[in-house]
Amino acid sequence: MTAAGSATGGCQCGAVRYEVRAFGRASICHCRMCQKAFGNAFAPLVTAKSIKFTRGAPKQFKSSSKVRRGFCGTCGTPLTYEFEDFGTEIAICTLDDPSIAAPVLQVGLESRIPWCEGLDKLPSREPAEAAQAEALFKDLVSYQHPDHDTENWPA
Ligand SMILES: [Zn+2]
Ligand SMILES: [Zn+2]
Repeated sequence: MTAAGSATGGCQCGAVRYEVRAFGRASICHCRMCQKAFGNAFAPLVTAKSIKFTRGAPKQFKSSSKVRRGFCGTCGTPLTYEFEDFGTEIAICTLDDPSIAAPVLQVGLESRIPWCEGLDKLPSREPAEAAQAEALFKDLVSYQHPDHDTENWPA
């Protein structure tokens, strides 16, 4: 979050960038719709009281009679959850600094996947396996947009 109280974010490829001026409550949603929309176990979302798209705009999928979900039409990153006139929530991990919106609530527990319990207790790679993985990624060149606004895009 900047001194002005705004934060920026965007999709993986950078075709869609946004600025948020005020946040509401952050949560994780375990509902089946969020699982599908995020391709993930749960969706970390934060209410964006004021959001402005500064580059591009999300494509939308109407996932129910009351909800639209925004995503990047180029790279597919899930970006928004819009509930009728109630407001927009943004996918926390699309923020340039996701650590600024810590979830304080979990919802959609009826669909919570049992293995979510204890994820933080999973072991990490053994040193030998970690070294192998590191070697594989050594020459990798990232095409992901950096975690800040850029003058030109594509670069
Ligand atoms: Zn994108
Ligand atoms: Zn949900």
